[in-house]
Amino acid sequence: MGGYRCPRCEGSVDLTRHPLCPACLARDWLETERFVRDKHDPGRLPLAWDSYRSVLNPNLVADPLPFLVDAATRGHWFHDAYYDMYVHMCFEPLGVQPGAGIPEGAREPEHALDSLLIAEANSKKEAHAFAVSREVFEAQVEAGEFVPLAICERDGCEALRVPATKRCVLHTDASPRSSEA
Ligand SMILES: [Zn+2]
Ligand SMILES: [Zn+2]
Repeated sequence: MGGYRCPRCEGSVDLTRHPLCPACLARDWLETERFVRDKHDPGRLPLAWDSYRSVLNPNLVADPLPFLVDAATRGHWFHDAYYDMYVHMCFEPLGVQPGAGIPEGAREPEHALDSLLIAEANSKKEAHAFAVSREVFEAQVEAGEFVPLAICERDGCEALRVPATKRCVLHTDASPRSSEA
């Protein structure tokens, strides 16, 4: 699979590990309009909500890019079978707990959460961040609620498919190399 060179940043990307360039992915996440939504915004505390929620670590919200680059580099993509969307999950970006949980009706966080989840992670409009528990997430993967990203459907290609498509970035129709198909 060798080195795929990202056309945007010229970084080298291992496509068996990353379906998209992690450095550019992190930047795309941040450019969405509401990457930190009210519900998950630590700047709004103390605040009660009508259901359980998580808030992000204030350090992550203050300077998100380094956390997101680390998350995009070390984390993994999944398809959410229930909501039919793609999520990206990373345990302890930059070695910190990325958020905390607040029980229904409570106004302040009561327990730390160790993983950062980006919902709609392939959407340049809707991607947004919140904190989850790795233990809970892994149980959901076991139960088939989240399915790891599959590899490209092209024979012999071991690259991960671009989320919401069946092929890797080398073998999508948008790629000049698709003329070899
Ligand atoms: Zn890039
Ligand atoms: Zn491929």
